[in-house]
Amino acid sequence: MKTHSNIVVTVSVNAPNSDLKASGEIKLDPNIGKPVQTEKNVDLETKVSNILKDLLLKAIYTSIKDPVSRNIIDHLKTSHPEFRSKNKLCRNIMLDMRKKGNFDDFLMYIREPHKALKSWVEKYVSDYCMERDSDDKSLIGKKANEMFRNNVLQVIECVKEASESNEITFEDWLQRFNNTAEEIISISDNLFDHFGRKEVQVMDINYFTTELIKSLDDLKISEEKVLDGWELKELKTVTKQPHVLISESLLGCTAVCPFCKIMCSQQTDIHPGTDHTAPSHFPGAIWGVYDPNTKELDLPTCNEVVASDDTFRNRATEMMPVKYKDYRSMEAYASWSIAADTSLEANLYWKWVVANFTQQIVQYWSKDYLEDRGYEVKCTNIPSEWKNMTEEEADESIRIMFQ
Ligand SMILES: [Zn+2]
Ligand SMILES: [Zn+2]
Repeated sequence: MKTHSNIVVTVSVNAPNSDLKASGEIKLDPNIGKPVQTEKNVDLETKVSNILKDLLLKAIYTSIKDPVSRNIIDHLKTSHPEFRSKNKLCRNIMLDMRKKGNFDDFLMYIREPHKALKSWVEKYVSDYCMERDSDDKSLIGKKANEMFRNNVLQVIECVKEASESNEITFEDWLQRFNNTAEEIISISDNLFDHFGRKEVQVMDINYFTTELIKSLDDLKISEEKVLDGWELKELKTVTKQPHVLISESLLGCTAVCPFCKIMCSQQTDIHPGTDHTAPSHFPGAIWGVYDPNTKELDLPTCNEVVASDDTFRNRATEMMPVKYKDYRSMEAYASWSIAADTSLEANLYWKWVVANFTQQIVQYWSKDYLEDRGYEVKCTNIPSEWKNMTEEEADESIRIMFQ
């Protein structure tokens, strides 16, 4: 007896209204092979229609993933200003961090800003997609259901159209179906690996299509709950998941300031002919800059120090003192433009952070320096103006800077 242990049927999918062309391999139950053994009370027409329904179901699922993902991106970009520019995204993340008041969030934003941005976007998009409306439906579930139903209806129309002639054979029907459905879906000839060509030629096509339409129609109800439960992870096989596409479109330049490590604010990943810049720089304490004599964390920003006669030394300067104002003479610093201006103190927001998380900042950097250099740092000179800053003032400074 011939066995069919590795039967593979290839189904090609062309998603409607998109340039998506996906294909998938569907491994069928090896026990389903030719000739179709009609079980008691299950006729050949029903059996063939069930096999086709399963194949079409998988193909329809594949066909909706990319459009659902794109639809979510369009929706978010239209209705959420924070996803329209890097500045607006940073503004919302910073306001959100201040509201939550979790030092670890600030730390991630300071040390790994691009990772922090991506992670915030992923969580935001995920929460948003799962948010329930008044009908207790999530956005992603609604979109998935909407597109699934639409594709099922289109496939049913193609089945009907292929069945309009009388006295056609199954092969004729299949050919007609593939012709009418080619924009949406197609069934390959490998289908005949699963039942004999001769056997299905005697099928009652009208009965077969009635059965197929009925079972396809039922999918709209039977799959509703599955689609309602869709989350971002259900889209992990799409070319680009929505949060990844949104992040990529907003991250822009990933360079960071060679002194304080704040992100470059340019909106494009490369900007030839234009220096890296940032609207304001961190106060030195944020990035663990300290006076080697007093071990006191510094409060001035990069703008203030490059306007001074102070010097710095590190591996880039081969541990030789170099004046901050000459930073562009160092290759690693040359592509940055940092305005030399003693009036450009830290933004009120970062003053608020330093004043409210002084202990955590000191502990964090002291741990590093104790391991590396054998001493701790301190931060005892914070002005009272910084300490008296209100949350509202901190937030307002961010809204103004990123408006
Ligand atoms: Zn800087
Ligand atoms: Zn840049």
